[in-house]
Amino acid sequence: MTLSPHKLRPPRVRSAPLRGAALAALALNLALAPCVASAQEGGINLIRDTEIEETLHVDADPILRAAGLVPKDTTLILVGDKDLNAFTVNGQSIFINTGLIVETANPNQLEGVIAHETGHAAGGHSARSGDMNRAAMQPFLITLGLGILAAAAGAPDAGIALIGSSQYFGVINALTFSRAQEAAADQAAITYLERSGKSSRGIVEFFENFRYEEVFSEARRFKFFQSHPVSGDRIELLRRRAEEQPHYSAVDSADALARHEVMKAKLFAFMNPPQQSFIKYSEKDKSFPARYARAIAYYKALETDRAIKAIDSLLVDYPNNPYLYELKGQAYFEIGKSKLAEDAHRKSVELKPDAPLLLINLAQAIIAQGDVKRSDEAIGELQKALAFEKDNAFAWRLMAQAYDAKGEGGSARLASAEERFALGDMAQARIFALRARQLLTKDTPSWRRATDIVLVANPSKDDLRALAGPQG
Ligand SMILES: [Zn+2]
Repeated sequence: MTLSPHKLRPPRVRSAPLRGAALAALALNLALAPCVASAQEGGINLIRDTEIEETLHVDADPILRAAGLVPKDTTLILVGDKDLNAFTVNGQSIFINTGLIVETANPNQLEGVIAHETGHAAGGHSARSGDMNRAAMQPFLITLGLGILAAAAGAPDAGIALIGSSQYFGVINALTFSRAQEAAADQAAITYLERSGKSSRGIVEFFENFRYEEVFSEARRFKFFQSHPVSGDRIELLRRRAEEQPHYSAVDSADALARHEVMKAKLFAFMNPPQQSFIKYSEKDKSFPARYARAIAYYKALETDRAIKAIDSLLVDYPNNPYLYELKGQAYFEIGKSKLAEDAHRKSVELKPDAPLLLINLAQAIIAQGDVKRSDEAIGELQKALAFEKDNAFAWRLMAQAYDAKGEGGSARLASAEERFALGDMAQARIFALRARQLLTKDTPSWRRATDIVLVANPSKDDLRALAGPQG
């Protein structure tokens, strides 16, 4: 919430193949780091997950609309970090740490935080320097699906690597809003919450909990609040205005509460070592979130048989839940059972056909089986995914693989150019696009697209001459 910025801790970084995961360029020009497997220190983990993104949007969209923002133009970005934090970049993106979500007691508390961040976004609060604008021009962010975190099974700190240039993260680090802007964001939050028929109780409670932690917690878990306390005055001001609002006594719907618990359980299980999940969500707890968390924990522990058993038992009770099938597909994919993974992912797509990340999972499981005859099928699924997210770099990467398998080098290089372009890596985008142009048939739509990429990817004079030359 940029109560003040805090230090973004470098995650544990490991090289991991991309699995069950999607890379995506963000809607703004925040593009992405060029390399995936060779991650470097100093980044933050950005996480994609269809189920959680959906829950966040259900919570956030009324607030965004109340602030005059367009929900589909506002990116809610999950940061895989156990620390409490949330922040806004460029008035278009709201970043929320998984650790913060896990600490919210109910949807209304999370909505309070989102409303505060929306206050910064809608208020046009910019950081104190031009750094953010500069950063936005630069390639830096990579995001992965939650499934990738499984690769860190057993690691004490389950974050897996998604990395951008440390330069950018240095900038986020330096992001500070003035006291006046913080107060304005608090007040705006109450206005938006009220306008969307929600209580402002949550934001007051949440800030108070922080204070409680700060004062009483032995462990002093949240370093952030040691150096940047939420002052009593600030909370008092907030509380007084909150209590005056007509919707102060509004409560979360049963649906919203249930979704919130599922989201927390899922994040906890993905972000923590399995043993911790088994403690927090013990066998005695037969609720859906607890059973879900345990299934994820088994999956993370690579106890695939137990994971599948747990998921199948959930599916008996919740046969139409696409995310259970997604998890099952990931569990199989993880151990190289690509056909079983495909079957499960296909089911998730049947249940939720408009989710690009689920389509990408399916395509990936098809490609992994190595049957060249099925390349077109995989390409078809990827095209569907890209129709929803045209700058999903991971989909483009898989597309290049599928075309290479078919022996269509021109289309493969064009897909690689698209991948690099979506990642903001203009130098590589240009190189792949030039290569694609040489291989593709002149004047076809693909050839023209390759030409367009060369033109927008900072071509050199030589490149332009080549484009204008007799070879065209
Ligand atoms: Zn703030």
